[in-house]
Amino acid sequence: MLLRFVSIALLRMRAMTRCHNKKARLASIEGNVRRARPVQIATAIRVGGLARIKSKRIKQILAAIEAERGRIDLEFLRKLSPEEAEQKLISYLGVGMKTARCVQLFALGQKAFPVDTHVHRVAGRLGLIPQKTSREQAHNLLGAAVPKNKMYSFHINLIRHGREVCTARKPKCEKCTLRRDCPRAGVS
Ligand code: SF4
Repeated sequence: MLLRFVSIALLRMRAMTRCHNKKARLASIEGNVRRARPVQIATAIRVGGLARIKSKRIKQILAAIEAERGRIDLEFLRKLSPEEAEQKLISYLGVGMKTARCVQLFALGQKAFPVDTHVHRVAGRLGLIPQKTSREQAHNLLGAAVPKNKMYSFHINLIRHGREVCTARKPKCEKCTLRRDCPRAGVS
């Protein structure tokens, strides 16, 4: 989640940047991020919650990336295998497996399967993972089970199903298209 907010902050700052030249614009974004105070980043990402903590972490991660790479740029991750990219991402303070895999799936186009709260809940109810499977274990189980060419769509669809139908409280089993195959149909 954290690096998704880095991306959001970068995009918001890009929108604020008036330069028309691409190179100049990118340099300006880097400059903005480097100079931004945590409170400014917090304002840009407030919609996601926990903005104060995340903004500090974002500054720390950006500083770490810049110290390591000489600039704020994660393009080098594209040259790594998905496993290596995941390990690199989770080495940054505050970045967990879900965040790492979201960056891989959405920003890098790598085959990775993130498990958020909705994916975890719905997969558990449908019996795709054993009950009481931890989120971390679910990453490994679902990551191995979901076909690589379906990781993006399956992730998106499970989240949507979890938000709209298989909600944490009072899931709408009577309307659910999966109810005939679901071992937890009727759960309250
Ligand atoms: S039948 Fe109910 S518990 Fe099962 S997936 Fe559908 S909404 Fe969720």
